Amino acid sequence: MALPVAKIRSDFPIFAAQRDAGTELIYLDSAATTHKPQAVIDAITRFYRDEYGSVHRGIYQLSALATQKYEWARQVVADLLGASTREIIFTRGATESINLVARTWGEASVGAGDEILLTELEHHSNLVPWQMLAQKTGARLVIAGSTTDWRVDLDDLLAKLSARTKLVAITGMSNVTGDLPDLQVICEAAHRRGARVLIDGAQLAPHHPVAVAEIDCDWLAFSGHKMLGPTGIGVLFQREEIGEASPPWLGGGDMIEFVEYDSFTTNELPYKFEAGTPNGAGAIGLAAAIEYLQGLGWEQVAAHERELSEYTLEKLLGMEGMQLYGPHNPESRGAVFSFNYQDVHPHDLATIVDADGIALRAGHHCAQPLMGKLGVGSTARVSLYVYNSREDIDRLCESLKKCKRYLTNAVG
Ligand code: PMP
Repeated sequence: MALPVAKIRSDFPIFAAQRDAGTELIYLDSAATTHKPQAVIDAITRFYRDEYGSVHRGIYQLSALATQKYEWARQVVADLLGASTREIIFTRGATESINLVARTWGEASVGAGDEILLTELEHHSNLVPWQMLAQKTGARLVIAGSTTDWRVDLDDLLAKLSARTKLVAITGMSNVTGDLPDLQVICEAAHRRGARVLIDGAQLAPHHPVAVAEIDCDWLAFSGHKMLGPTGIGVLFQREEIGEASPPWLGGGDMIEFVEYDSFTTNELPYKFEAGTPNGAGAIGLAAAIEYLQGLGWEQVAAHERELSEYTLEKLLGMEGMQLYGPHNPESRGAVFSFNYQDVHPHDLATIVDADGIALRAGHHCAQPLMGKLGVGSTARVSLYVYNSREDIDRLCESLKKCKRYLTNAVG
């Protein structure tokens, strides 16, 4: 194992708390949200206990300290992505980040007859904001298809890029099939056609530092809570020139430079896009989470997930009656595995494994159109992170066999 999982688990108080309550927790739902290490809980507690003040609003020392911590958090995120702090906007999460782009750049730059190119794999958060923009502007959504193993069909996507394409909005990693589309090729092709590219990094960012300059994307959106940070904080990387040219979204404190009764001027980047008292504790908690992951080592995190993915694929695919959606090759996917097993309804399956202390997701995963393509109403989903081990997968497989016994007429 590339990571010391037993030691890592001891950093996350939830496992001990669950044990004290009588459950040996096997947590397999990190694609929905991750648990928090003590280091993150401590950073948030320290902020409220010792360092709390109004960010960007006071002259007194505590306000200056809170501001310094908040801007330190922004620097941590900027360094992670290889971006300038002017390009890092704190939001409530990936969903808000994507809506921000639709409501600012989108409303200013997309018009009737323009095309927004998406894929069949998109989460509702990277679909509905573009539907809303299309309704408002008369633009058209174009959807790239998938391969038979539920990856983005790159050929189809490239063929659907046209002179009318204003934006390609694509997942960095599918929360259903685990697909990792070739973002660099997509950005290069889109830019050659004069289109912008937004990456929904909600699933990608927790597992790899996303080098925005290397990939050459225009926006990257992600959430803190899926990468060991708190809820209520997210990030939008927005290329500086776009931020300069786009109108603001929410109006209020901080986003202004000067206000008169009938007009206002906007603040400099990134504050132009951060209206209202900022979420200092959230940003600081997110920065502490990034530092925790850096302490583990991103390469080790990736190696651990690859190794665990190989094991999971081998175990799941070895089970009779297993229908796994997504590539079977661990190189082409992240550690998210959606499946249906033995005709057992995913909700029944999740309920039965829950009795064994196993938390996994059952449902449409906020990707209802994709469920339609898969020909099912829902799937079960296992997703892995730094605190998971092979034993977790072994226990899952044992528990799944119970589903077969309890809920099907199968022998054995
Ligand atoms: N995109 C993807 C691929 C996701 O998995 C999620 C969360 N399930 C989101 C966007 C939205 O993230 P949030 O709810 O944290 O805004």
